[in-house]
Amino acid sequence: MRTRRFSTAFAAALVLGAGLVTSAVAPAQAAPIHQHAKTPVAQGYGGAVVSDTAESTQAGLDVLRSGGTAADAAVAVASTLGVTDPYVAGIGGGSYLVYYDARTHRVSTIDGRETAPGADGPSMFLDPSTRQPLSLPAAVTSGLSVGVPGTLATWQRALQRWGRFGLAEDLRPAEQVAERGFVVDPTFRELTRQNAARFAQFGSTAALFLPGGAPPEVGSTLRNPDLAKTYREIGKLGISALYGGPIGTDLVNAAQHLPLAPGATLVARPGPVALSDLRAYHALDADPTQVNYRGLDVYGMAASSSGGITDGEALNILGNVDLAAMTRVQALHHYLEASRLTFADRNRYLGDPRYVDVPQQQLLSPSFSRQRACLIDPAKAGVSPVAPGDPFTGSRSCPPPSGAAVPVPDREHHTNHFVVADGAGNVVSCTNTIEEFGGSGIVVPGRGFLLNNELTDFNFAPTQGSAPDPNLPAAGKRPRSSMSPTIALRDGRPFLAVGSPGGATIITTVLQILVNRIDFGMSLPDAIAAPRASQRNTATTQAEPAFIAAPATRGLAALGHKFAISDTSPLDPTIKTSPDIGDASGLEFLPNGTVLAAGEPARRGGSAAAVIHPTR
Ligand code: GLU
Repeated sequence: MRTRRFSTAFAAALVLGAGLVTSAVAPAQAAPIHQHAKTPVAQGYGGAVVSDTAESTQAGLDVLRSGGTAADAAVAVASTLGVTDPYVAGIGGGSYLVYYDARTHRVSTIDGRETAPGADGPSMFLDPSTRQPLSLPAAVTSGLSVGVPGTLATWQRALQRWGRFGLAEDLRPAEQVAERGFVVDPTFRELTRQNAARFAQFGSTAALFLPGGAPPEVGSTLRNPDLAKTYREIGKLGISALYGGPIGTDLVNAAQHLPLAPGATLVARPGPVALSDLRAYHALDADPTQVNYRGLDVYGMAASSSGGITDGEALNILGNVDLAAMTRVQALHHYLEASRLTFADRNRYLGDPRYVDVPQQQLLSPSFSRQRACLIDPAKAGVSPVAPGDPFTGSRSCPPPSGAAVPVPDREHHTNHFVVADGAGNVVSCTNTIEEFGGSGIVVPGRGFLLNNELTDFNFAPTQGSAPDPNLPAAGKRPRSSMSPTIALRDGRPFLAVGSPGGATIITTVLQILVNRIDFGMSLPDAIAAPRASQRNTATTQAEPAFIAAPATRGLAALGHKFAISDTSPLDPTIKTSPDIGDASGLEFLPNGTVLAAGEPARRGGSAAAVIHPTR
């Protein structure tokens, strides 16, 4: 383990001649950094955190210890993830946050989704010369994909509603980690390697993440003094520093005039995000989705995310049968089929509710769940694409599906999910994103954070045949998300908080964890660690190698299910990626009053779970 003598930005600026990064001159005088150990499971009381990195979990614990609420700790965790997990989160991106308030016993949500700038429109991802949709890589690594970020506004809103401290105080741990640096682990290096070619296109990005022109070595220390300064400035000026102030000006400049490195070969596609878009942005208070599953009240994110509605509908469908009484093959078959059907409905009906009528109540009604459940044939797998149902019929019989059966491409990308509970019993389940690993690839010069490419979550062209597509781009619209931070109550008190990253696989990961825990009786750590499969209305179900190798999978194959792993980058099929699905974290509130905090033992390098007072 070693500490770089210079900030990585300085080293890269020397090699690449980028010279753009003011933090390049910041001396690295901090003491050597010691890598914190991560442990995926903890149990105890007084408060708990599970997140992707040891530093972010530590930041949350520190804020809890000093008297912060779960909301304060969530801001500390998320802002530290912006430092230590910068390819998936940060103030350049968006968030969804679900909160259980121990005083009112109510669950609330904040929709901090990115929005399309006012100058965007339906043809934003069409090539102006051909009128054909841009390729995904061209759209992702561009200014076009950059939505107005919502994460910082989410933090502010959460603190206004449930915080005890201010933003400046809650950002301090992250500021310190950014200043001091963190130790690069194999996961961070690997993600840098996968993105190195596009990071090299931008001087500011290369200077920060490709020190010496290459991914940082495992064991080296990566500092981000620009981000420390940015957090300090936000602490002083408030969020208006970004939503209209000097940080916003730099952000707009980066999207409109891409900070290309000398010799960059990228076809520059700037984006229209403007200071007026930043000024107009609001994180939205939204009512959660709610379904009852086996006596639990399960709350999730309503649209603009498809997470809560799609998971809720799938749970309703599964509620029509007794999975626990079935063979494992039959139970998994039902899990896969429920997911197949709900993805058809998701793709047909879900989008930003400020732009399209989302029939949430109908999709989550028991009668619609029966209508969909009766299409599950215990003897064979459905043939995808299956058609969406008609949630407006209210029929109690088993009508044939009404809409067109259309294949809809969806992708898995990655963000992070974390959970926090405080000693008073407040709970946060929050998913953050900048969309792809590495977002748009653009670091805002001098500011130390990556810009999202969230707008590529819109469908570039209609997908629903003759029916309207609810997820086409429009000015000011929020692209449909799959993020599904979830809190389940039993008798009005927290039982589970869970969530995961993974693009569209988020929905199936959350569903599978709930089924594993509630129906199969696994412990929460086992429910999270279990091999995953993700059926999203495609002919072949995406699965992890361990799921494909499991004994029950032979039985599923006999019913007609086909499985395949997914292990190449959506941006470049020659780049191998991990076949893992998701990267979950969760809390279970046990009858003896302790909290079981659980994350991934292995996926994406494992999670960091911790509690204030451990009991084991
Ligand atoms: N952009 C994705 C979504 O909103 C999240 C990114 C991810 O988890 O990979 O659904």
